[in-house]
Amino acid sequence: MAVRPLLTIGNPVLRQVARPLTRDEILSAEVRTLIDDMIDTMHHEEGIGIAAPQIGESVQLAVMEIAVDSERYPDTNPFEMAVFVNPRVSVLDAAEQGYWEGCLSVPGLRGLVHRPRGVRVDYLNLHGDPASIVADGFMATVFQHELDHLGGVLFIDRIRDTRMLATTDNYVRFWLNRPGEQRTSE
Ligand code: ZN
Repeated sequence: MAVRPLLTIGNPVLRQVARPLTRDEILSAEVRTLIDDMIDTMHHEEGIGIAAPQIGESVQLAVMEIAVDSERYPDTNPFEMAVFVNPRVSVLDAAEQGYWEGCLSVPGLRGLVHRPRGVRVDYLNLHGDPASIVADGFMATVFQHELDHLGGVLFIDRIRDTRMLATTDNYVRFWLNRPGEQRTSE
């Protein structure tokens, strides 16, 4: 187990489409170690999700967790640690919602991103078994942001109005707590 260096925007690995894992790979010691490293890195960075390409492994693997005592997300329901392998997102509710997003791989920036507000994610779990989860609101955005990483997509690609892109300092100064706009960071 180890905290690994994060790749940041400009690194070509973040723009690759990650390859799926086989069931044998999911159960292998190498992938177990990779998952442990992702969890350690996510905790170290105080993120709520991380995708394997963010630590340089271009495979379809992401972990997400919102701790019960999360100080950064006090108004959000906890989300128990979950591992998503080869995930596919289906839109259940195409009505859009906007959240200010940030990303461990895009340090120092926030942007207002509009995404569908309801999704289902079909994936393989830690044991290689099929599973699915339905999410709406904040968690729907978290899933879409995180799983975008596996397709080489970053949140900045989804900002429609680049006037709604800000440094973290300016986000806090000018945009935080404005009505109707909420914040997320992965
Ligand atoms: Zn991200």
